[in-house]
Amino acid sequence: MTTISVQAAAMIPVARPFIGAEEEHAVIEVLRSGWVTQGPRVAEFEREFSAYIGCDHSVAVSSCTTALHLALVASGIGSGDEVICPSLSFIATANSIAYVGATPVFCDIDLATYNLDPSALEGLITPRTKAILVVHQIGLSAEMKGILVVAKKYGLAVIEDAACAIGSEYEGNLIGKPLGTMACFSFHPRKILTTGEGGMITTNDADLADKLRKLRQHAMSLSDVVRHNAKQVTAETYDEVGYNFRMTDMQAAMGVVQLDRLQSFLQRRRHLASRYDEALQPLPWLETPSVPSNCRHNYQSYMIRLVDASAAKRDLIMQRLLEKNISSRRAIMAIHRELPYRSEQWETALPKTNLVTDTALILPLFHQMTEADQDYIIEVLYSIAR
Ligand SMILES: *Cc1c(COP(=O)(O)O)cnc(C)c1O
Repeated sequence: MTTISVQAAAMIPVARPFIGAEEEHAVIEVLRSGWVTQGPRVAEFEREFSAYIGCDHSVAVSSCTTALHLALVASGIGSGDEVICPSLSFIATANSIAYVGATPVFCDIDLATYNLDPSALEGLITPRTKAILVVHQIGLSAEMKGILVVAKKYGLAVIEDAACAIGSEYEGNLIGKPLGTMACFSFHPRKILTTGEGGMITTNDADLADKLRKLRQHAMSLSDVVRHNAKQVTAETYDEVGYNFRMTDMQAAMGVVQLDRLQSFLQRRRHLASRYDEALQPLPWLETPSVPSNCRHNYQSYMIRLVDASAAKRDLIMQRLLEKNISSRRAIMAIHRELPYRSEQWETALPKTNLVTDTALILPLFHQMTEADQDYIIEVLYSIAR
């Protein structure tokens, strides 16, 4: 045990959004314009998002949860269908499947990447399986090639839960340039780019994009913008049951500014992550993130896994960190342990998911975190004996 030479002056949070004066100005401009819900700023944010990702269509919505819900509706998934997804994910992944009346079927993960294990997929396919909901967990791309092979063989739709994956790459392309049919992003403040709440669906399929645009706005045949600009009296129709999943123009204006900042966000996160990697790799009692050579991580979170540990041991380490003014978070949750999805069957079928959710933890990583703060965290980790 070494002694800690310095003490963090204030609690170091796990994450903190970076919001500057430009965001304030952009939102005030919208407030003064008189058009506050989905309008010109949403259209601008969508255009710039598509240009950044390199996809044909981006459809802004109110959150990633509503994005996933809408993507499943637009894919025709419904009652009696099964959708394969990881249990090691935020609960919204499975909830979106439940919203459409389908059943989530949980697939175990690859221990190295914490993402869906393509080799575990085939065993879960039944005549009711309609889609795979792939998660790029904490920003790292899943092994899409293997997943797409299985999807093609069984004629399954592939929807990407890219909530955490903005700026991440797979085989040289940004996530969101769809490898499946659609990818869904989150702009919650815990993610890298934030609009307070918000989401985006990207696709290269024009028909799907049209369908999504309609469904997010009550399935109204004419948009507000079209009606506002019409020179003749117009009457809209509502030909199916739609939703109100609109993003506001205040949020979109903020998103445009955040998108301009994204490169600097990514650069800073990658720099801090590589400092963690280098400092923590010598510690035999933990594993640092492993990134396959065909992937580029955005480090939306920096998660370490304790070797030969238990949940109790992990929680003890988190407590020790907290006592030193360092917040950490338990690893990604296991959805199958929450009441709506809990069963003995999943508890025994998902050993790797159980291991990771019990023994991993997320360390602080955010844009404004200083190297001094990070050095302090590293020093504290070194002082914690196994
Ligand atoms: C954050 C998150 C979501 C939900 O995003 P919201 O925008 O908060 O609805 C869904 N899936 C994953 C994997 C997430 O991390």
